[in-house]
Amino acid sequence: MNVFVYGVLDNGQWYWEITFDLRADFLFWHERLQGAYQLMLLEPDLSLGQAMWLKNQLAASSRRAANATNDKWREEIQRTWESGPYSRSALPAPFKLTLIKKGRNDDIVSIGLHNHNGDKKEFQKLLDKLQGRSLLLEEWKQLQQTQGLQWSEATQRYCLQTAYLRQTIHLLPGIKRIERAAWGKSTVQYQCQRCGSSQERMHWSHCHQCRELCPYCEECLTMGRVRSCSMLIQGQASQEDKDYAHQGSMVTPELNWKKHLVAYWGLSPAQTEASLAGLRFLAQDRNKDSREHFAKRNKGAQHFLIWAVTGAGKTEMIFPLSIRTPFN
Ligand SMILES: [Zn+2]
Ligand SMILES: [Zn+2]
Repeated sequence: MNVFVYGVLDNGQWYWEITFDLRADFLFWHERLQGAYQLMLLEPDLSLGQAMWLKNQLAASSRRAANATNDKWREEIQRTWESGPYSRSALPAPFKLTLIKKGRNDDIVSIGLHNHNGDKKEFQKLLDKLQGRSLLLEEWKQLQQTQGLQWSEATQRYCLQTAYLRQTIHLLPGIKRIERAAWGKSTVQYQCQRCGSSQERMHWSHCHQCRELCPYCEECLTMGRVRSCSMLIQGQASQEDKDYAHQGSMVTPELNWKKHLVAYWGLSPAQTEASLAGLRFLAQDRNKDSREHFAKRNKGAQHFLIWAVTGAGKTEMIFPLSIRTPFN
């Protein structure tokens, strides 16, 4: 899915964003700015990796003052693009830059979540399922299907864009472009944002979304291709993760387990959560509270699966489980 880049005049400065459904942005800024506002829309659309890069460059531009005109921004975008890593075929000049003025009393079309409370609740359930996960767009759609949701493409785009603007989810390009400068030279590295693989595992091929060569990760290819233009949808950290991060100020019954897993096995926070979930599963046969808690959360699941990319450390995650099992 390609996206558009646009600027919005907020509090005396131009602020740059990406969108795959402007209707969501119109409503968001209408509510946020409480009155008339202006947007500057760049066309054509760009791939996610390109759009994120351009948005970040423009956000750092020194010409963000409110009096920057359409022509000034046109020059700035062209200069930025031509000095950047992407080809002219992806953003051919002259491109279109349209100023959109919205009045205080303009009708703002709102669809999807704002019209249907049922959808809103279903969407919240989806967001709960997304906690601690990083999914490709196809996987996100599969998640909807497993929840029995059959939203149109338009509603899906609207919901996703609204959640992104409200920072309920994070959107990342599948491959990260890292620029470093040292000893007067700049180097560029690419890294997969799903499995963490670096440059050596990147493969370049022509891509119709980027309209030029674009890298994908060979390391995690069996789980679906992650390109620089692929969208990774990341959920918020769960409350447990947040508590864990601030564990010094709280005490929970499971805190000792967590401390043990980290201190003895050296597990990371994400590995610890997976191990803990396994320990809860094993405990359900012996402990009524755990059993009910687990059954409630997992609809009476009989099997436990740890699912993670290659190299995530699944083996280490099951050490605590294998130690515990013989003593049960
Ligand atoms: Zn990868
Ligand atoms: Zn691409």
